[in-house]
Amino acid sequence: MLVMKFGGTSLGDREHIDTVVSLVRGRLPRRPILVCSAHGGVTDLLLDGAHAAAAGKPDLQPIVARETALLEALGLKPSLVEPELDCLEQMFQGLKLLPAGLAPQVLDQVAAFGERMSVKAIAAYLKKRRVPATAVQADEAGLVTDARHGRARPLPAAYRNLAKHLRGVKGVPVVTGFIGRAMDGSVTTLGRSGSDFTATIVGRAVGAEEVEIWTDVSGVLTADPRIVPDARPVKALTYAEASELAYYGAKVIHPSTIQPAVEKGIPVRILNTMQPDAEGTVIGPSRPRGGLKVTSIASKSGIFLVNITSGRMLGQSGFMAKVFDAFRAHDVIVDLIATSEVSVTVSVDKPDGLDQVVQDLREFSKVQVAKDNALVAVIGERMRRASGLAGRVFDAVGRERIPVRAISYGATKTNLQIVVPEKRRADTVKALHAVLFP
Ligand code: ADP
Ligand code: ASP
Ligand code: MG
Repeated sequence: MLVMKFGGTSLGDREHIDTVVSLVRGRLPRRPILVCSAHGGVTDLLLDGAHAAAAGKPDLQPIVARETALLEALGLKPSLVEPELDCLEQMFQGLKLLPAGLAPQVLDQVAAFGERMSVKAIAAYLKKRRVPATAVQADEAGLVTDARHGRARPLPAAYRNLAKHLRGVKGVPVVTGFIGRAMDGSVTTLGRSGSDFTATIVGRAVGAEEVEIWTDVSGVLTADPRIVPDARPVKALTYAEASELAYYGAKVIHPSTIQPAVEKGIPVRILNTMQPDAEGTVIGPSRPRGGLKVTSIASKSGIFLVNITSGRMLGQSGFMAKVFDAFRAHDVIVDLIATSEVSVTVSVDKPDGLDQVVQDLREFSKVQVAKDNALVAVIGERMRRASGLAGRVFDAVGRERIPVRAISYGATKTNLQIVVPEKRRADTVKALHAVLFP
């Protein structure tokens, strides 16, 4: 069995969807299961619509227009998604009465409609083109999750449930990406770009031979192509490299995508819907000898640097434990840690909970928080064998007069991270790409 995940751009118009149909047809002997995102742009329309509705201006029109145009282009009746649009209409009207703001539960429920409508359209179009298919709503098919709305994770039962449900589906299952259901019955989402994660969850559930992630670039590239237009595809990545890349900001896959694949050793392949013959990137437990030492450069914005100083306690055992206890107590995740004789610096990528952490830390230390930073990560498991790499990195940023605010180069040396001012993020990525991928 094979899982094929199609992202928003791959499902954005008739031309792309026709390519999807021929790709699926060609793989029928491998018993494909499709995982689909919402049509490109629809999730944003839904979330913007919910916010506008809560501000007293419900307007479903942009969503109706987008869905109707797409169904008509596919020669399908717009009435196919009428039940979903009616439901949304009612929800938007109801939101007018909720001026207190939108709870994450509500946003998840609204956002889920993008995938719900998309799988109905794709399954109907496959059938019209004589490929037997059935739309599957993942939340109804047993993809149970915890109740962290907006960033839910699957519960162990999800795998069993999905395997059982999918066995009974006729034709090619076309499964909603992104959405699940908490034990209290509420709809959850796995976070933006979560359909990638759904794909490997489904892959693990059915013991797939491979998970294909079809997108709009020919694989994972050596850097974000929006920053480095001549970034090149990377042929192979290890699970560890791909996870780090995703975690440190490469938007091409959701940060949790690799986890379910690792558990069963399933290869994940990143492919381009518009250039289906391009080799793409294969992600697996290991990669062939002789490949790249550094595989890619990732970056993310909105980084907070927290500097903690305590002359009295720093050298004492137990100080670090107290520091990290404060972060743990408020569920704040730390990315980078740099220590010196007199201070500890950590980086954090979300403001949620940070104020409380700082309050706790101030009980035993001096704390400064600097915002408007970006984290740039150089990734590659074989980096440790590239002599002089750190030197080349610092030469490159030095030449561009980019101030480096923190550095971390761990013992495993799978990645080297630096924190720079937000406004120098792109310059940093470009400068590093030029020296590491000449
Ligand atoms: P989809 O809609 O298929 O899920 P996404 O927009 O979520 O597609 O992800 C693909 C995009 O990720 C690419 O178009 C590219 O702009 C961006 N991207 C960022 N970093 C990388 C990288 N290192 N390699 C490839 N693509 C990247
Ligand atoms: N449709 C969702 C999003 O736009 C999930 C996904 O595309 O993977 O984030
Ligand atoms: Mg995506």
